[in-house]
Amino acid sequence: MAKKYVYLFKEGNANMRNLLGGKGANLAQMTSLGMPVPQGFVVTTEACTRYYKDNETLAGDIRLQILKALSKTEKITGQTLGDPKNPLLLSVRSGARASMPGMMDSVLNLGINDEVAEGLAQISGNKKFAYDSYRRFIQMFSNVVKSADMSLFEEALHNAKKNAKVEKDMDLSEQQLFDLVKEYKAIYKKLFKQDFPQQPIEQLFEAVNAVFRSWNNERAIFYRKINNIPAEWGTAVNVQQMVFGNKGETSGTGVAFSRNPVNGTNEIFGEYLMNAQGEDVVSGVRTPSSMKELEQENPSVYAQLVKIFKKLENYYKDMQDIEFTIENGKLYMLQCRNGKRTAPAALKIAIDMVNEGLISKKEALLQIDPKTLDGLLHPTFNSNELKKHKPIATGLAASPGAGSGVIALTKDKVLELKKKNIKSILVRSETSPEDIEGMSASEGVLTATGGMTSHAAVVARGMGICCVAGCSALTVDAKNKCIKINGKTIKEGEEIAIDGTTGNVYAEGIVTEEAKITGDFATIMAWAEEYAKVGVRANADTERDVKRAIELGATGVGLCRTEHMFFEDTRIKSIREMILSTNEDERAKAIKKLLGYQKTDFTAIFKALQGRPCTIRFIDPPLHEFLPHTKKEIEELAKDMGKSYEELNKIAEGLKEFNPMMGFRGCRLSIVMPELAKMQTTAVIESAIEVIKKHNIEVHPEIMVPLVGDVKELVYVKNIINETAKEIMAKEGVDVAYAVGTMIEVPRAAITADKIAKEADFFSFGTNDLTQMTFGFSRDDAGKFLGEYYSKHILPSDPFVSIDEEGVGYLMQKSINSARQLKKNFKCGICGEQGGDPQSVNFAHKIGITYVSCSPYRVPIAKLAAAHAAIKNK
Ligand code: PEP
Ligand code: MG
Repeated sequence: MAKKYVYLFKEGNANMRNLLGGKGANLAQMTSLGMPVPQGFVVTTEACTRYYKDNETLAGDIRLQILKALSKTEKITGQTLGDPKNPLLLSVRSGARASMPGMMDSVLNLGINDEVAEGLAQISGNKKFAYDSYRRFIQMFSNVVKSADMSLFEEALHNAKKNAKVEKDMDLSEQQLFDLVKEYKAIYKKLFKQDFPQQPIEQLFEAVNAVFRSWNNERAIFYRKINNIPAEWGTAVNVQQMVFGNKGETSGTGVAFSRNPVNGTNEIFGEYLMNAQGEDVVSGVRTPSSMKELEQENPSVYAQLVKIFKKLENYYKDMQDIEFTIENGKLYMLQCRNGKRTAPAALKIAIDMVNEGLISKKEALLQIDPKTLDGLLHPTFNSNELKKHKPIATGLAASPGAGSGVIALTKDKVLELKKKNIKSILVRSETSPEDIEGMSASEGVLTATGGMTSHAAVVARGMGICCVAGCSALTVDAKNKCIKINGKTIKEGEEIAIDGTTGNVYAEGIVTEEAKITGDFATIMAWAEEYAKVGVRANADTERDVKRAIELGATGVGLCRTEHMFFEDTRIKSIREMILSTNEDERAKAIKKLLGYQKTDFTAIFKALQGRPCTIRFIDPPLHEFLPHTKKEIEELAKDMGKSYEELNKIAEGLKEFNPMMGFRGCRLSIVMPELAKMQTTAVIESAIEVIKKHNIEVHPEIMVPLVGDVKELVYVKNIINETAKEIMAKEGVDVAYAVGTMIEVPRAAITADKIAKEADFFSFGTNDLTQMTFGFSRDDAGKFLGEYYSKHILPSDPFVSIDEEGVGYLMQKSINSARQLKKNFKCGICGEQGGDPQSVNFAHKIGITYVSCSPYRVPIAKLAAAHAAIKNK
């Protein structure tokens, strides 16, 4: 049987998401739940893949299936495409597996031609409606299908309104709209050297093609990249009978959520506009009415929505976000999906649903995307600090959090400032999908128009950045590069602050402070701990970071990069003295200073850890990273060391390498300079003893030798560690429960892991280097070409962000298996950057990793991801 590429709504259900896309599968599901859904069909995501395989053409068999489904839709709806007496009009919308709001294209009002427009005017008795719909269709078709620049159409509309002396589109008269359509058609002909297509079938095929094409527009590609959506998925196309919210005052359109997506309260939340089409609500051009008003103005539609929401939440077991239209007083459902929500709302909804008996704790945890927790870890305003400032305006509290930075009026400005490490607030009249890159790089977004479901609000909530929308006191003066708020002019580049929790806007920067884990956040973290099997530690090398990591729930330190302790100004001098010393005396003197610094740091870290384990990685990077670079620096150091500039410069030159990442670094340093390993061991053991003796706090140092490729390297360094530790412990009369392990970050170490495990107390996978060396991609330079790898589908995503399971993962699994054959519960961690990535945490769970270690701010994310992994991979 030929492959099925087209499904009627009544042939599908919610489980067919991969094939029908999220929107299509949910329309099908709502149909089967008996909800009022305008009928239609879905052209599958497989048809999209085929479209690209066939060089961006729609194959004959797919066209045939579309025609068949169309004819069935005509039977169901009792209307016919192109029939002026009873025309079926269609919407043609994208719908991928994962929601990609506003990223791809849609065409509405499809099926109108000159005759149908006239027919529509007659049957509806509303000529204005008929020609307004035709006008919108021509414009949308030109934009989406023909990629035309909209300025000529906009100019024509603007002139028509100006001549008619009206402000709103809907205030144009029947005749004026009729004339405008004529003009639009003339523009179309001028632009494309052909008449506007009068064949509805041709319109339909062209629109389906265009939606498939939009899967690969720039916006969609960027959105996929930041949301980890594979390019192979493709989008489905939903072809659906149009219903109209712009048929007059008893018609309208809106978007609503079954619960409040901003704070999670169990109340219907949303916005609608009477006499409008869907895009008007989300575009933010007109400020819509709230659902409370709908309850008063149209109680029967409101009551119907309440019932539908209840049914949907019972079925989907999650908060729902819908689009609806009221046509001449009758309610239609155009879409439902799990609603996007802020991080605080996500927690509250999950916990409430458990308390309501709707879902289990496990389901509640799975409902929260670990990445959304990032939104809770952003700074808030310090309440004492906030009292000192007076807001100059208030808008809608559209996405919570605090943002302080300089004004940027364009996406490009945000990106330019970010490069200079300057924090900015993106200020726009309203945002559009083109702005998303700038939004994600900003501290927050402020808009003048638009409601709680405007583009800015929805996208900011999705990204977890703060947003104040619809601040009506604000005007943006792009020409003069400034904004005006309540009579005050503030220039681009000057500081402002916005509070997405209250909607307040301030005309100056305000200090922010770290977020805390309390309330719902703490409840969810406690639930996550109940289920997670993989532990979560933090990468931290200062007392401050260690304290923060513990506050955020880390069970210990999984990577303390000791070289980070030397980067500070005065300390780097000592390490430079050590590297550049020419005799033992000089070196011993420098090392003594370094010992002092390390002891101070370790003592503080061990105290802060209060008995939790701490993996201390011995000095790792190529030595020349520490060297003086400028002439002035070399001169200064030469003076301090009593050497000549020339002598010092020669030594420094001699340390330069062609391939530093594969050069004189890691354990190679301690092998060439055993004094280094001795000094570091002394620092660890002496500080541990001090903390045990003076403060009566347990200490569990796990000394980790980096970049081992052969077991003999480990043995060499381990002997130094053991001898040094033994001597100190005997002298002090205190035993420190230290361990010696190694990083697995060189492929040879993974291959010979059985031998290495004999000599090691633990492994920690340095997945940064292991990825670098397994692929042969330089971790510092690969960014230059990896972009092409994703767009050409050679790699699905960045292997430095998510572990490459097939290659790097294979080496990891092999190492774990060899080690555990020898020592049953052998401890294996991950301390590369991937340790905080939810997808990699899932993989870590599957291969039996003991713990992952990541930056303190990713600890809660990794914990929830670990719980997800345990629940999903039973
Ligand atoms: C690693 O290679 O994954 C690692 C943690 O070490 P570093 O990033 O310091 O090389
Ligand atoms: Mg490394």
